[in-house]
Amino acid sequence: MGTLKITVIGAGVIGLSCAYELTDVGHEVTVVDAGAVGAGGSAGNAGWVTPFLSTPRAAPGAVRDAVRSFTSAEGPARMRPHAEPGFATWVFQFLRASSKARSEQATASLQAFSRRAIRHFDSLAERGVGFDQYTAGLAVVFKQPHNLDHYAQLLARIRSLGYDGEVSVHRGSDAADFDPAIRRDMAGVMHLESERHVRPETLTDGLAKAILAGGGQIVEHERVVRLASSGRGRWTVVTADGRAIPCDQVVVAAGYPSRALLRPLGVTVPLEAAKGTSMTARGEGTVPSHPLKLYENMVACSPFGKTVRLSGTFDLGRRDSTLDRKRLDMVVRQGLGYLQDWRPTDIDIEWAGHRPTSVDDLPVIGPAPGHEGLYLATGHGTLGITLGPLTGALAAQEIAHRQHQPCLDPFRLTRFANRTKRRV
Ligand SMILES: Cc1cc2nc3c(=O)[nH]c(=O)nc-3n(C[C@H](O)[C@H](O)[C@H](O)COP(=O)(O)OP(=O)(O)OC[C@H]3O[C@@H](n4cnc5c(N)ncnc54)[C@H](O)[C@@H]3O)c2cc1C
Repeated sequence: MGTLKITVIGAGVIGLSCAYELTDVGHEVTVVDAGAVGAGGSAGNAGWVTPFLSTPRAAPGAVRDAVRSFTSAEGPARMRPHAEPGFATWVFQFLRASSKARSEQATASLQAFSRRAIRHFDSLAERGVGFDQYTAGLAVVFKQPHNLDHYAQLLARIRSLGYDGEVSVHRGSDAADFDPAIRRDMAGVMHLESERHVRPETLTDGLAKAILAGGGQIVEHERVVRLASSGRGRWTVVTADGRAIPCDQVVVAAGYPSRALLRPLGVTVPLEAAKGTSMTARGEGTVPSHPLKLYENMVACSPFGKTVRLSGTFDLGRRDSTLDRKRLDMVVRQGLGYLQDWRPTDIDIEWAGHRPTSVDDLPVIGPAPGHEGLYLATGHGTLGITLGPLTGALAAQEIAHRQHQPCLDPFRLTRFANRTKRRV
């Protein structure tokens, strides 16, 4: 196949990963973003690369947990219903996808997929993409002993799906010996030794630099407003500034706004925004030597050298990007409740961003049926960092080499249409 002109919409971790892989095999790639590179959901997140935690939120108990959390002032998850088209349908479909049978199938697909994720971080590093990566694993910290026991059941379930990472458990005071930054009175820690974390801003920055070095272009601060097909796989991507970019292939990786961008083409992608928030600071006291999942409060603590990021909240339907002070303060307060003596002194970044979340909480990757030259890569929910480089590599195989990747089949857009047909 000759050189393709490819436009990638979205300079988050997903769009940049696709663009990098396509540039790497010699195509002419232009990335267009409404904002700055990596400034969307890919910026202030926890940065965990976590095959173990690759399980969909659409699962039995999701409704019970949601009701409990939504009705508690301090709950990690909230729902903000809005009048935009499709929200009520999205919630209904999410509840349907939470059945035991569907969630088990989705978990198995996601686990099989994410098992390949880590090697793609090595592949990026081997090809000279620069980013900050840490290999201390991921430690889940529990206040309550019964939650640690419950998690051991999850471990058994994930193991039965093929997860073979090293895992160790440290109970009682052993937890603080394991990582002195953890408070002495915690019930225990489960250390997932094979997981990793990255500083996500360095990953998007490293990918962007590699794209430019490989001859690709990046257009920032230009919102794409229209995708026009002129037939036979030829497209024109039109921005709000009036720029028209002709191309042979479009990759839509615009996070949850992908939904609105694709709607005029008759392509329905059931995505919703789940807003999160974080604080990144230097401080005094003992910095954790591992990233910590602070189980009861669903807060993430990610050390990046001497800097610590506390992140959390899953506010469904909150599409605005404003910082919610109360929510951020809650995340910080709850996070510090697990730490022995680390306290922030120099706050560097306070952030809010969105997880693009599909109704079954699985990514949406693959060609848009009936639209030659249009490819989707979005909906990675809580796992965009984990799955970004893998998604980019496989999407490039399908686009550049026309090589169907069977491991992407559970993530095709057609799964939603098939379900609708079956119901009728
Ligand atoms: C608090 C929090 C913690 C998280 N922690 C982790 C974690 O530890 N591990 C993990 O794997 N994942 C994590 N995630 C999830 C991860 O951040 C997301 O899945 C990922 O960033 C999504 O990447 P994306 O490229 O799809 O979207 P984005 O990064 O949002 O990129 C989409 C881009 O598209 C652009 N765009 C939108 N519309 C248009 C348009 N019309 N024209 C042009 N450009 C447009 C936007 O400006 C944006 O830059 C977390 C998320 C949150 C909120």
